[in-house]
Amino acid sequence: MPISTPGRRWQPAYKSFKKESLGKKFLIGFEQVVKGPLFGCRQCGNCLLQETAFICPMACPKGLRNGPCGGSTPERCYVDTSRPCIWYKIHERAFKMGREEKLLEVLPPVDWEKVGGETWGDVGAQIKKIGVKKVFSGLVLGKGEGRHETWESVFKPVRQPEWWQGDDRYHAPASVEPVSALERSLRSGRFTVACEIQPPLSMATKKLLENIALVKPFVTAINFTDNASSTPRMSSWACSSLAVQAGAEPVMQIAARDRTRAGLQGEIVGATALGVRNVLCVTGDSAVLAPQPRGRMDINDMDSVQMLWILRRMRDEAHYLDGRELKTPPKFFLGAAASPYASDPRFQALRENKKVNAGAQFFQTNIVYDVERMEVWLNELAKRNVLDKVFILIGVTPLKSAKMAHYMTQVPGVFIPESVIARMDAADASGGAAGAQEEGVTITLEIVEKVRKLQGVHGLHIMPVGWEDVVPRIVTEAGLPLPLGSDAAAGSKKA
Ligand code: SF4
Repeated sequence: MPISTPGRRWQPAYKSFKKESLGKKFLIGFEQVVKGPLFGCRQCGNCLLQETAFICPMACPKGLRNGPCGGSTPERCYVDTSRPCIWYKIHERAFKMGREEKLLEVLPPVDWEKVGGETWGDVGAQIKKIGVKKVFSGLVLGKGEGRHETWESVFKPVRQPEWWQGDDRYHAPASVEPVSALERSLRSGRFTVACEIQPPLSMATKKLLENIALVKPFVTAINFTDNASSTPRMSSWACSSLAVQAGAEPVMQIAARDRTRAGLQGEIVGATALGVRNVLCVTGDSAVLAPQPRGRMDINDMDSVQMLWILRRMRDEAHYLDGRELKTPPKFFLGAAASPYASDPRFQALRENKKVNAGAQFFQTNIVYDVERMEVWLNELAKRNVLDKVFILIGVTPLKSAKMAHYMTQVPGVFIPESVIARMDAADASGGAAGAQEEGVTITLEIVEKVRKLQGVHGLHIMPVGWEDVVPRIVTEAGLPLPLGSDAAAGSKKA
């Protein structure tokens, strides 16, 4: 077991597919001998140890390089339950060492040109570029800030290549002129409702279009999931396009799990050309949740933070990741998922902070059943001064049965209190399926009532998991505002 990577199981190092020179082979071997036993180094070719509390992030089965996924827990990794969540361990140690702010730097995806290589050569080249004497005197004779600056002048260009230039700062959107009805509604200060519709399992679109027509008068935007639970359905992209044709406003979800960096950029250009104006970046459930045969579980080409960074720069700086200019850059309102109950609220708040810095303008949270516990997370976001930079829509899912309530206890990132399960069990015992459904709606209405009063909450995101009929009922019975400018909203205003 490597000395500085807790709970790490041995994983083979990546191998370069290129023929390397003798000198390079020597450096690769040296890196293996030194960093293998110490950190469990996998030879990613772009070392991030200084930013990750000296724990190798490549121990994460998803290969995430910017923080945990929404299923992170203190106990174990949900993809491989035989080991701890390495990102939980990184945060734990970083907070203990007082290095937590280093976790805010947006780190680049793996450069596969360098995988299987080593980092020493790049460090040496950078020292040569600055001047050996200058670096030596800065590090040996310099003090405090000066020494830190010299150190950074050597290592930052190595871990932040020209094509990435990640940092730990907030990047406000280049324009606050709304590009979608969702953005317009949120910026107007109206409590805004979105909901999710499950994409169909086949090419038949009748039910999908009926559901869109059903919820459209009640919600400002409609999310389409992207192969949720790693299980294939109609793509979010196709559903979003159909929604645009039906006069509704989609939120296109994009899961990093199924994307390469080239695929992401091509897809956003295509989707915005077809009228999609809201995009939600998620890491995506691991293929471990998928039906068999399972897809790749050991690496993602990008994580959600990197997706936000790439997309924001395409929109605001008008270039592709490789630097090519975008003559007409895509326009979209950029969102991300947030997970109030995963890991520790302080760790999650830091993760959300990083997403906002990278480009997230709105959050849609994981399902909330315990408002008080969710408030702890909101307070952590407030301490980080994040609340005035992002719109937050709280996720709710009405429980349809007692069985569903019990199932929710196993969903990564969802916390359901015992009291809620007990209420569903009691309703089921006394009133059967119909009684349980009614109780599920009552619980949701109680949650909505509470979250509406919270500072920092700007709206609701209803995830009915196939029970789309319940959306109009929740909006109506909770007395939530109808979409801005809709006929129904105008009618209710006049009344
Ligand atoms: S971040 Fe990359 S180079 Fe650094 S220890 Fe991990 S695998 Fe090795």
